Amino acid sequence: MKRVLMLVAAVAVLAGAAMVKPIPAVKVEKVNDRIYALLGPTELPNATNHGYMVNSTLILGDKAAILIDTGMSDEVGAHIRKAAEKLTKLPITHIINTHHHGDHTLGNVVFQGAEIISSESCKKLVEDTGADWIAIAESAIGRKLPNTKAIPASRTYASQSRTPVEINGVKMEFWVPEAAHTKGDMLVWLPDDKVLIAGDVLVNTTTPNFRDAEVKKWVQTLADLQQFPARTVIPGHGPLMTMKDTAAMHKRMADFYAGVEKVYKDGGSEGDIRQKVSLKDWQKLKHFDEQMGGNINKTWLEIEAANF
Ligand SMILES: [Zn+2]
Repeated sequence: MKRVLMLVAAVAVLAGAAMVKPIPAVKVEKVNDRIYALLGPTELPNATNHGYMVNSTLILGDKAAILIDTGMSDEVGAHIRKAAEKLTKLPITHIINTHHHGDHTLGNVVFQGAEIISSESCKKLVEDTGADWIAIAESAIGRKLPNTKAIPASRTYASQSRTPVEINGVKMEFWVPEAAHTKGDMLVWLPDDKVLIAGDVLVNTTTPNFRDAEVKKWVQTLADLQQFPARTVIPGHGPLMTMKDTAAMHKRMADFYAGVEKVYKDGGSEGDIRQKVSLKDWQKLKHFDEQMGGNINKTWLEIEAANF
C-alpha cells in the first residue's frame, strides 16, 4: 500500500514538472566574430516565459567576455549565462546594465565576481527600486523568486557623458544621455565593430514603454543617436535594427510628442489624443493595446508640467 502511494506521489510530481514549460530558448544572432546578440522573446513577462523577454549582448574579448543585460531573475540570468557558455569558454568578467529595469538587471545576481557597470543614475535606481522590481517580476510570473536580488553596479558613469574605455581588449564608448527611456540609460558604442547596443532607448517591432521615461529628452536622444555610423544596432527588445530603423523610431516618437503637444496647446484634453493624433504607425507594434494608454497619459502629464 505504502509503495503504491509513493508511486502515485512520484507520478504526480513528474506530471507537475512536465506541466512547467522551460524558459524559452535564447535566439542567438552572430553579429561578427566577437559579438553575439542573445535575443529574448517579445511577449510581456508571464508564467510561460518566466519573465524572459530581454535582449542581451555577448562580447568576446581577448581573455574574457562581457555581457550586456542579464534578465528578470536569477533563473533567467542563469539561462542567458548557459547560452553564453555554449558560445565561448571565456569567463564573463564584466556585466553592463543599460538601465535599471528588472528585466535588464535582476539576473546580475548569478554573475558573482564580475564587475557590474552602469550609469550613476541606474545604480541609484537599482538601489531604490530593486525590491519593487522583484515584486513586479514575481507578480508577472505568478510565483516567488527567493534567489533573486537586485545587485547595483560597482563602476558608474555620470549623466551626459561619453567615455571611451577598453575592456578585455575591446574598445567601447559609454554614452549616458540626460534621460530617455529612463533617467539612467547608458548606450554602448563599439567603434571598431560599428555596433550600437541601445537598451530600451530603442525597441523594435514592439511598443516602447514610457513608464519611467522623459519623452521629450528621449526624442532628443533618438536624434543624437543618428550620428553613429552603426552597421548593426541591438535594441533592448525585438529583432536587430539598422540605422534606418532607428530613424523610423525617432520619427514615430517625435511626431507623437509634437501631436500631443499640439492638442495641449490648442486647448484640448487628454481624451482628444486618440482622435487628433495619428497612431497608425504605432498600432502595428506589439503590445500597443496594453502599453499605449499609459504612454499617452505619461506624455500628456509631461507636457502639462512643462507648460505649467
Ligand atoms: Zn526592457
